[in-house]
Order: sequence, then structure tokens, then C-alpha cells
Amino acid sequence: MHTIKELLANSTLKTTPQRLVILKEIEKRGHASIEEIYENVKILFPTISLATIYKNINALQEENIITPVCSPKKSRYEITKEPHAHFICKECDKIEDIIFDENIDKIIETKYPNSQKELYIYGVCKECQKG
Ligand SMILES: [Zn+2]
Ligand SMILES: [Zn+2]
Repeated sequence: MHTIKELLANSTLKTTPQRLVILKEIEKRGHASIEEIYENVKILFPTISLATIYKNINALQEENIITPVCSPKKSRYEITKEPHAHFICKECDKIEDIIFDENIDKIIETKYPNSQKELYIYGVCKECQKG
């Protein structure tokens, strides 16, 4: 796992304080929505616009530094890592990572080489089941 600074240094993007803060926010939350990123980046850069956030998010996505996670309620972004599955709670919209089992990984690689591995599991999380 690379640090945020390394991720930017290894890309074609310039390392800007804004990009570092955006990435830090995503890293901290695991999966962050544009609104969550905006709220927190604004604290440090009060003049930053939502359009600038979108522009940076798109650039970071093009460089494969971040990956979009599609939730029916709100799209989120995460720092790109090994392919994994996502559990999405239908009640509270919480997203959890599920690591691919090595066997599943092998099967996918053999049967469908070079495919994009995205798997979503929708259900109700433990906390929401209690309530
Ligand atoms: Zn939940
Ligand atoms: Zn994830």
C-alpha cells in the first residue's frame, strides 16, 4: 500500500494541497461521497468550489488513484486497492469491504481474464438488524 503522497507522485498529476486533502479524507473514511469530501475540504480551503472537487475527483479517477463505488443511494469513492467486493446496507447505506476469496479470484481470472472485478452484495447490516 502506497502513501497518498506516493500515489500522486507516481501519477501524471501535480501534487496539490487540495488533492492531498481530498485523498486523506477518502482514506480516513474508507468510502467517501462527494458531499462528505466537500464538507471537510471546505474547512481547510473555504474558497474551494464543488466544481473543483468534481474536477479533482475525475482526474484522480482517470489516474486510477481512486475508484468509484456505486451505491443506489449515493456514489462513494475509495483509494484504489486490490479488487474486492462491497456489502451495501439497504437501510443506512453503509459500505463494507469484503475481500475476495483466493479461490473465487482464481476462478474469475481463469474464466474471465482481464475483467473488471466488481461485486456488490445488498442487505441489512448487523446494526440495522438490531434496531
Ligand atoms: Zn445499516
Ligand atoms: Zn471498498
